[in-house]
Amino acid sequence: MAAPPSSAGETPPERATGLAERILALLEGAGHRLTEPRVQFVRAVAALADKSFTGEDLYVRLRPTGLGRATVFRTLKLLHDLGVLSRLHLADGCQRYIVAPVQATPPASGHRDRLICRQCGRVAYLDHCPMEGSLARIRQSTGYQVDWHHLDIVGLCADCSSAR
Ligand SMILES: [Zn+2]
Ligand SMILES: [Zn+2]
Repeated sequence: MAAPPSSAGETPPERATGLAERILALLEGAGHRLTEPRVQFVRAVAALADKSFTGEDLYVRLRPTGLGRATVFRTLKLLHDLGVLSRLHLADGCQRYIVAPVQATPPASGHRDRLICRQCGRVAYLDHCPMEGSLARIRQSTGYQVDWHHLDIVGLCADCSSAR
């Protein structure tokens, strides 16, 4: 089986730069100093904006810049706490992260449900919420007033399933 190209899910450089700038502005706005390790970390994360990753993936990617594991995991937690990163709930546990869709125009429903490829880690956002019609029925049958939800649909992307 052919391995997916290493650039799969890599954000185009121009978009990655813009995204890194927005994340750095957000960090600074929240009162965090833009140290060199943080800038390196944010650039690495922005380059993976369409792909899920683990802390270990980031550590391996950032190791040549001299960033230690503790710094990587501390910065990961900081960006998660700030809402820049969101955690994926997959069968292998909750160790994977994805950049929250700060780069995407939010739809009228205020959130975007996701399609996640369990093989290459690619993440795509749905334009429309597939739950919209169901929520009214859920309320009717259970009496439950729903405030919000998020939906992650996990499977194989078109490239990965055609490679099988
Ligand atoms: Zn895939
Ligand atoms: Zn939804």
